[in-house]
Amino acid sequence: MNECLLCAQSIASTPSWQALLGLRKQSNICQDCSKKFQRADNKDKCDVLDHITTLYSYNEAMLDYLHQFKFLQDIRLADVFAHELRNHLSTSAIIVPIPMHPEKKIQRTFAQVDELLKSARIPYTHVLDKINLEAMGEKTKAQRQAMKPLFSIKEETIIRPSTYILVDDIYTTGTTLRHAATVLKQAGATRVEALTLIRA
Ligand SMILES: [Zn+2]
Repeated sequence: MNECLLCAQSIASTPSWQALLGLRKQSNICQDCSKKFQRADNKDKCDVLDHITTLYSYNEAMLDYLHQFKFLQDIRLADVFAHELRNHLSTSAIIVPIPMHPEKKIQRTFAQVDELLKSARIPYTHVLDKINLEAMGEKTKAQRQAMKPLFSIKEETIIRPSTYILVDDIYTTGTTLRHAATVLKQAGATRVEALTLIRA
């Protein structure tokens, strides 16, 4: 019997043949918790990004989840969306997590996007370095557009003429993803898509 990762009630297991064959992992949150998350709509092309997939909207359940996962650092919670992420990222494209600035990673002690991908068993490569610590939150649109580059390509990394998928936890203004896509395309990527867990 499984326990829900969010509320700890036991999950009624109705073993399907897929689960028995190990083809499909049983959900690790219960129906009640699962219903509280709200689906988001995907978006087609957004200037430099060729496609954006956003899985969920920002609601109260998601806020609770993020608080527990990111700030209380309950790494087990990376599993909550593992199945969902695996469905969307089973692809031959190169998966690139949006990196944290090293100083920020020290404060937080773990990189949540990497943890989400690890938990979903999705192979990824870090090809970007975060080079700018400016926070996006308070900026006007004009200020965001005038910002210095946020990322550079890691040293000794070759960007191939293929499809890259950037992965981040939250899509707010899209500035971060656009900056990342721009450096990748300048370095030779043919197509850059993005997937984020949440659309703010
Ligand atoms: Zn639950």
